[in-house]
Amino acid sequence: MNRFSYHRAGDIAEAAQMGAEPDTRFLAGGTNLVDLMKANVERPTRLVDISRLSQNTIEDLPEGGLRLGAFATNADTAYDERVEQRYPLLSSAILAGASPQLRNAATNGGNLNQRTRCYYFYDTETPCNKREPGSGCSAIGGVNRIHAILGTSEACIATHPSDMCVALAALEAEVRVQGPAGERVIAFADYHRLPGDEPWKDNTLQPGEIVTAIDLPADSFTENYTYLKLRDRLSYAFALVSVAVGLKMEGGKIAKARLALGGVAHKPWRVPAAEALLEGQEPSADLFAQAADAMLQGAVGQGTNDFKIELARRAIRRALRQAAAGTPQSQTNKQVA
Ligand SMILES: Cc1cc2nc3c(=O)[nH]c(=O)nc-3n(C[C@H](O)[C@H](O)[C@H](O)COP(=O)(O)OP(=O)(O)OC[C@H]3O[C@@H](n4cnc5c(N)ncnc54)[C@H](O)[C@@H]3O)c2cc1C
Ligand code: SF4
Repeated sequence: MNRFSYHRAGDIAEAAQMGAEPDTRFLAGGTNLVDLMKANVERPTRLVDISRLSQNTIEDLPEGGLRLGAFATNADTAYDERVEQRYPLLSSAILAGASPQLRNAATNGGNLNQRTRCYYFYDTETPCNKREPGSGCSAIGGVNRIHAILGTSEACIATHPSDMCVALAALEAEVRVQGPAGERVIAFADYHRLPGDEPWKDNTLQPGEIVTAIDLPADSFTENYTYLKLRDRLSYAFALVSVAVGLKMEGGKIAKARLALGGVAHKPWRVPAAEALLEGQEPSADLFAQAADAMLQGAVGQGTNDFKIELARRAIRRALRQAAAGTPQSQTNKQVA
């Protein structure tokens, strides 16, 4: 039993000040953090409960976008009428994750900051650089079926497990954060980081910084989009590979393309060159195969996850086909949610 204190923050400023202290963790829905504490992976001496703070609404932005409060639940976000109608890619990605009970408790801020599902990260008997810096990486040369094929380092080959974040990457959302030094806005592509030689850092938050909201731009994909998630079971399983695609079609050509991959790297994976390759072109099997190759340039298997490279290649081609035809996977996701 590890002793810790519990404080319910009165506002963001108080939470940020407390959160900057060593060995302090923010508690939101608790669906990841409490599991990690039970497994002895996270051992905070102080929990600062931010789940009751007022940033739990979803609000229209003056320029036509939408602001998702960090403490709104994943369920409230996915079923918000404006999200369903204006950002169906996001709604279907959220509903492809976890289970209804978990989505009722999990918050948007917690989803961004959830930690990897690497087996060794959870097993305190094995070396893991993310859990214990400098101890080694058991997944390299170990069982690495769920691990990364892109952007890995010699220190860590973990993936980021979120579905929601893959859609947010394709939508080019912005993350609003507040900390002891004030407020700032981080482009979604810069929020999560690759492991490099500091794999214990999942993102670019500074000590005490709290995610307060996620801003969605006015420009979205309402006709030609898909979130395709491939996993071992049809529900209640993390992605082996997932693909978020948003296309804008004009006169039979792709005017705008945004793609992001999940389950393959330490952060949602985007390759602007693959998007540029699609833009201005008519959809075709050849074009989609070229885009898939561009997305996967530099992919390297780690042994038991070698299959992911071909799985991802096929998933990208299928997701592009579905999005171009206007037949999103979201129908299926909603049926099984
Ligand atoms: C069995 C199971 C299956 C799951 N399947 C999926 C799945 O298929 N797809 C998927 O995407 N997810 C899945 N999840 C993960 C789930 O989505 C996350 O646990 C959840 O989103 C975390 O949100 P929370 O509010 O509960 O965060 P918490 O557990 O409270 O916090 C998680 C982390 O985020 C930090 N944090 C929380 N809020 C903030 C904030 N506003 N600012 C800064 N830091 C913050 C906390 O300090 C902590 O480190 C699954 C979880 C479980 C238990
Ligand atoms: S892949 Fe990363 S999280 Fe997993 S054991 Fe290696 S260092 Fe730890």
